[in-house]
Amino acid sequence: MNTKSLTFQLTVWHAVILTACFVVLGFAIHFGLQKQLDESWADVQMKRAHQMASGILRDAAEGGLSNLKNQIDRYYSPGANNRFARVTRSDGTLLYVSGDPKDNSFDADAIPPARPPFQLESVRQVSLGGGRAIMLASQLIETSDGTKLLVEAGMAMDVAQATVRDVTFSLTVGLIVAAGIAALSGWVLVKRAMRPVDHIAATAASISSHNLNERLPVAKTGDELERLSIALNQMITRLDEAFETSRRFVADASHELRTPLTILRGELEGIMQGADTRPQEQERIGSLLEEVERLTHIVEGLFAISRLDAGEAQAEWVRFDLAKLVDSTADQMALLAEDKAIGISRHTSEAVWIQGDRARLKQVIVNLLDNAIKYTLPGGRVRLEVSATKEGRARLSVADTGIGIPKEALGHVFDRFFRVDKARSRDVGGAGLGLAIVKSIVNAHSGKVGVDSMYGDGSCFWIELPLA
Ligand code: ADP
Repeated sequence: MNTKSLTFQLTVWHAVILTACFVVLGFAIHFGLQKQLDESWADVQMKRAHQMASGILRDAAEGGLSNLKNQIDRYYSPGANNRFARVTRSDGTLLYVSGDPKDNSFDADAIPPARPPFQLESVRQVSLGGGRAIMLASQLIETSDGTKLLVEAGMAMDVAQATVRDVTFSLTVGLIVAAGIAALSGWVLVKRAMRPVDHIAATAASISSHNLNERLPVAKTGDELERLSIALNQMITRLDEAFETSRRFVADASHELRTPLTILRGELEGIMQGADTRPQEQERIGSLLEEVERLTHIVEGLFAISRLDAGEAQAEWVRFDLAKLVDSTADQMALLAEDKAIGISRHTSEAVWIQGDRARLKQVIVNLLDNAIKYTLPGGRVRLEVSATKEGRARLSVADTGIGIPKEALGHVFDRFFRVDKARSRDVGGAGLGLAIVKSIVNAHSGKVGVDSMYGDGSCFWIELPLA
């Protein structure tokens, strides 16, 4: 998983923020509930203390306090009702205390005695150890004979605590589930939101100098993505215009140069063949003609590339056998190889059908084979192989035992005007356009070109084209 990706980061932030909100909400519910229960528990105990106090006052007015224990047990039965009751004189003398409750929710003896001075009314929580507590409410009363009594009523907090525990447990489980759902839903939402970005990226990646007329999809959402797509499309339009201007310039320049070069060649040939031309001048004109030839070659190459870039490769689109074309081209170039005592071996037994411009693809074979012969020392070998790959493509490879290409130059050999060794290349007549033309033709046929080479050991150039 890519932890730096926008999807991951947004998902994590989404989950963290939502979880933090849930935790805060959980705490608020927990403490709110606890406070609410404590208050209502205290209210109930206070009401009971009031009830007992008024009963005691009534009884005291009628017959004194001698029958206090019986009265309380009879009317309130604290033990049977799991409650606590206590009556203490203002000097601290204990007049009545209830026993242990039926449900053993507290130990009556463990409840500390009330110590004077007493307040008129009070409610407090008394901890009994082991996580248990009792809520005690008290009221100070004065009988008609002036005796001051503290009446206490209480009940264990067990039920309230269990309620808070249950709710807290449910909240915790709910929180974990909600955090999981938040992370998952966040991921799904971010993925969905990012889908147009993926689409834009995939389309942008497929746009190169050959299909600059294509544009990115623009989702009419009025948001940042729409603005981004529009801005990128405007950039592609500007690039397209710039490419078109430079292509047109190369096309126009090479076209304009062709005529003067033809005239120049004609004139020079005329002078050379003239009766009064001396042998010395003939030699000089001969070398001028060579330069004109080289220039013509370059101009023709540039003109061909600019036409290919403009998508004019499909002049003659036919279905033909690549193996046969390679065979016949190799036959025509056999003399060239023989001159250098280079053996050409062919592995083109089966027919490999492709569709395209036959003349242009022949040019590809000529350029590759010509290079293989040019850059292989006398006595070397060139191996031509045509096959249909498992992936459904026609593959032509031209391997030689020549001088090879240094590693750092491998990535540039298909660039225009690139030559590994400029001085030597000029001697053998190259301008660095042959492979650029190969690449342009193959690209125009939706194919691929490549090269593997070991410097000093030979090179293998290959092209792949879709099968017909
Ligand atoms: P050139 O017309 O100079 O041969 P290319 O475009 O055909 O131009 O080739 C570009 C450069 O790639 C050449 O100058 C040469 O240095 C190198 N090259 C091409 N083919 C081969 C090969 N078969 N073996 C070694 N080097 C090669």
